[in-house]
Amino acid sequence: MPYRIATDIHTHTLFSRHAYSTIAENVAAARAAGLELLGSADHFSEMLFPEQHIRNFQFFLNQGIWPRTWDGVTLLRGAEVDIVSTSGAFFGQDIACPQSIVGHPYRQEKSLFEHVTGDLDYLVASVHNAAFARGASVAETTQMYLAALENPRVLVLGHTGRSGVVFDVDEVLTAAKERGKLIEINNHSLEGQGHHEACRRIAERCAELGVGITVSSDAHIAPAIGRFPFAEGLLEEVHFPEELIKNRSRDVLLDTMATAGVCDLRTLKGDAVA
Ligand SMILES: [Zn+2]
Ligand SMILES: [Zn+2]
Repeated sequence: MPYRIATDIHTHTLFSRHAYSTIAENVAAARAAGLELLGSADHFSEMLFPEQHIRNFQFFLNQGIWPRTWDGVTLLRGAEVDIVSTSGAFFGQDIACPQSIVGHPYRQEKSLFEHVTGDLDYLVASVHNAAFARGASVAETTQMYLAALENPRVLVLGHTGRSGVVFDVDEVLTAAKERGKLIEINNHSLEGQGHHEACRRIAERCAELGVGITVSSDAHIAPAIGRFPFAEGLLEEVHFPEELIKNRSRDVLLDTMATAGVCDLRTLKGDAVA
């Protein structure tokens, strides 16, 4: 039986620099793909700009003007944040941010991470450059993911099957389950052959341990939104139980986010016109 997955919460706009579509194009693609909900999660990462200043990340600061329901699609505001140390720290947490985008001093001392992510609905936490973890023990890399899960805004651990970090899968999956958080099965990771085995093992253990997952396109261009053929194929291969796919519908996803304490947007349940 094919799965019906009606949301996609790991997608990129051209803000991410190696992605090519606007938020409006992504929303239109989500609607065309029959999605109930789209989550936009651009990179919040060192890889984007040579200068790590809030001016370069103001794209995230004004997302309050995005319609909650746009063209019949519920729209969530997220970011894919880089994990940058074996202690599970995120990009921007150690970067001071004394001034606003127009150079006014902030009254409160908050990090770049806090300023940029403070008004977002959820975070996907991913490793993109595993150099910091070279030589680390499995206990340390496992602790890295456990610490990342502790952040109240983190909903998903992104593409753990292609992070380049070896970790104790069962321990991380169990911690995610305890917090009601999600492990991502990322379609983009499965487009080549290199990560299939690792992703399959993670999916199998999620099924066996009863851990919720999100199926994501990781789309970097509008036509890829809501398309997960490789991820769905892998889940079918391992007879993955549909009830653990927590992004299978808008209402299930919003309930999952609220239960995990990430954000309570349950007022958006059922209000999008198909
Ligand atoms: Zn990523
Ligand atoms: Zn991504």
